[in-house]
Amino acid sequence: MSDCIFCKIVQKEIPSEIVYEDQELMAFKDIQPLAPVHIVIIPKVHLRSVNDITPENEPLVGRLFGVVRRLAEEFEVNESGYRVVSNMGTDGGQIVGHLHFHLLGGQALNARIG
Ligand code: C5P
Repeated sequence: MSDCIFCKIVQKEIPSEIVYEDQELMAFKDIQPLAPVHIVIIPKVHLRSVNDITPENEPLVGRLFGVVRRLAEEFEVNESGYRVVSNMGTDGGQIVGHLHFHLLGGQALNARIG
């Protein structure tokens, strides 16, 4: 999608600190980190949110979670613990309308949701 900021990151039209990339997936450091480790993991294809996950793209999302696990190991939060979050829609606080998952760790996170 031409006006999507994450599609622009995928196309390398705007810079980002990429920590993982393959044909279908990308992960980069969040530009406004909320924790010592804050990585955004996305499918390259433009899906708007979790609501766009269908049986056809479920394998892709499953593979994305494999990347999350490997990044947790690489950034050494797999033992201490971490959080994976996907904000959806207005009430979910979603700002960027391209499906993404936040990997947060490196400190004890507030357990409160909402
Ligand atoms: O609320 P939402 O999950 O949509 O937040 C989008 C995230 O994308 C924010 O944490 C923001 O800092 C991040 N972002 C980024 N690089 C950009 C634009 C947004 O890491 N160029």
